[in-house]
Amino acid sequence: MKKIPQHGIEHQEALKQLAAFAAGDANYRDSKIWSLVYDLGEAHTSFLKEAYGLYFCENALNPLAFKSLKRMETEVVQMTAGLLNGDDRVSGVMTSGGTESCLLPVFACRERARKLRRLPFKPEMIAPETIHVAWEKAAKYFDVKMVRAPVDENFCADAKAMERLINRNTILLLASAPSYPHGAIDPIPALGELALRYNLPLHVDACLGGFLLPFVERLGHRITTFDFRVPGVTSIGSDLHKYGFSAKGASVLLYRSVDDLMHQFFIYENWPGGIFASPALLGTRPGGAIAAAWGALNAIGMDGYLKIARTIMETTGRLTAAIGAIDGLSVLGRPAMSVFAYTSTDPDLDIYAVADQLEERGWWIDRLQRPAAIHCMVMPRHADVAEDYLNDLKAAVDIVRGNPGLAARGNAAMYGMIAHVPLRGMVKSRVAEMMAGLYGPACKMPAMADDSGSTSPLMDKFVRMGLKFLKHRPGSKR
Ligand SMILES: *Cc1c(COP(=O)(O)O)cnc(C)c1O
Repeated sequence: MKKIPQHGIEHQEALKQLAAFAAGDANYRDSKIWSLVYDLGEAHTSFLKEAYGLYFCENALNPLAFKSLKRMETEVVQMTAGLLNGDDRVSGVMTSGGTESCLLPVFACRERARKLRRLPFKPEMIAPETIHVAWEKAAKYFDVKMVRAPVDENFCADAKAMERLINRNTILLLASAPSYPHGAIDPIPALGELALRYNLPLHVDACLGGFLLPFVERLGHRITTFDFRVPGVTSIGSDLHKYGFSAKGASVLLYRSVDDLMHQFFIYENWPGGIFASPALLGTRPGGAIAAAWGALNAIGMDGYLKIARTIMETTGRLTAAIGAIDGLSVLGRPAMSVFAYTSTDPDLDIYAVADQLEERGWWIDRLQRPAAIHCMVMPRHADVAEDYLNDLKAAVDIVRGNPGLAARGNAAMYGMIAHVPLRGMVKSRVAEMMAGLYGPACKMPAMADDSGSTSPLMDKFVRMGLKFLKHRPGSKR
């Protein structure tokens, strides 16, 4: 068990040790990663650190104490509202990230419904099943029932299917621009009509697209209108720390009017510690994240974002065209911007085994389920490595085709079998076990497959469960 050292170590020594910890991390500096880090390169990162550092100590908990931060936050909110075609009534706050920008609208809409409705009701919200998992978290935290609607063949929400699920308990409709798994923009104009017809709020989760789609549109790509131009859209979340290329810990949550925003305010007037008012989830709010966001928007500018978007879209186009041309692979649906997934159309080509092969070549790979696929979020710097990725992908496909046994080994076996486990509750309890190992006193990293390709006891358990199930359903496909 690690203890605080009795005598502190030198700053330089601490920094040295900190830097050394990164040795085994996913390699974003060489753009070997397709998620998690939104990187514009060393110069931009240094600039963000400097901007962050200027307000490192300041706390946006109290906007009266640090008017500088309130001014920056207001300007960031206004710049974002303008980008998303809001009028001057649009109001909002900066949050700590996408998850907070998903949690708060659920809370706000529940509060709104409670004020409007006299009869008792059990709040429900309706979302396409591709909605980000943060909304499931919000449902759980705020005890709102999540009602999932099926999506169409292009993984877009089906407005008719969503309409059929509306009832007197409904408090909120949700849509993505675009969705995390397949990069599809939901039919937001049709959903806006629904929202108006049933007098329901419609939130657009543009955490991914909020700072990219406006530029994709300016480049002449045809995209579904998703922002405040659509009547019926009542709120939008857009992550600064994704395609806004700001420091982590920054997102914008906008409402069409301050009346909508007010439902999320928390005010408590009887606390011995004083009258307390807070516009969002956090108490202490890091000033640095606000300053860096202001810095990013102002330093990159409309021209800069447009140029970034052009590079991203060109690279995405190259990648999706080349992947689609590989025999046995196919891009899912019709991705609207830089986020896409591809799957195997060949029963003899296991996509998870392809993922394993890519990882052996140093890539960090994200896997999707239902259907099984490999996920990519394209960054500007992927322009330089797209050819390498495609070459490695072609090699990976050849190897997996030549070695059908690979699908039953290593991580592919585990992910594949998890997909086959009939009782999702079993998967959930195994994952809970893994989390307890990771966060409990043992702090055990979950062992995936080791280098010899054999799996850990936990993963073996998954594989055995999957095999048992498969025995009863020969020929069943994922
Ligand atoms: C990333 C993302 C979120 C969650 O954001 P975090 O910043 O990871 O908390 C929510 N919705 C969508 C569509 C996202 O892409």
